[in-house]
Amino acid sequence: MKVQQIGQKFYLRKNNMISENIELKAEEILNNLNIKNIPIPIEEIATKMQIKISRAPSKEFSGLLIRKDGRSLIGVNSDEALVRQRFTIAHELGHLFLHPAKDAFVDYRNNKNETHDFDSDQKEKQANRFAAALLMPRKNIIKDYKSLSKNLIEDEICILLSKRYEVSEDAMKYRLKNLGLQFSV
Ligand SMILES: [Zn+2]
Repeated sequence: MKVQQIGQKFYLRKNNMISENIELKAEEILNNLNIKNIPIPIEEIATKMQIKISRAPSKEFSGLLIRKDGRSLIGVNSDEALVRQRFTIAHELGHLFLHPAKDAFVDYRNNKNETHDFDSDQKEKQANRFAAALLMPRKNIIKDYKSLSKNLIEDEICILLSKRYEVSEDAMKYRLKNLGLQFSV
């Protein structure tokens, strides 16, 4: 096996491990806070963890996280759709729990990434994965999907679940695909 292949294999395995750890971290937070209701009360999670949420309109960013002197603030763009704001809060919580070494994150709109460096890209993917795991808990989604798939087709399930979990249809579609449930696109 070539070095490059070994590297790639290691990278994939490492990536799977990180994804699984992210799932477990999100589940741990929901368990610790005893949150079982759907849609996930994302602001309640932040409040319970004493994280302040501040909303303001912006043309530039979707969200940001600032950590200072043991306190954390999440900024959310109030111009964006509510489902998007929910995802932004969950994404910033992801940075908070997964990336303790950095004290400030700014997430620009339309996934515009200022840096394009590998490490930052990975951090963004991890925060998105965490947000999906928190807002669409794996166990709930799998259970719901299985029960709905008896009577509905893929697209109908996706629309229904996106409403139930208060996430965008795109986010739900991506989550279902990621959990190996559907959408082979
Ligand atoms: Zn981010």
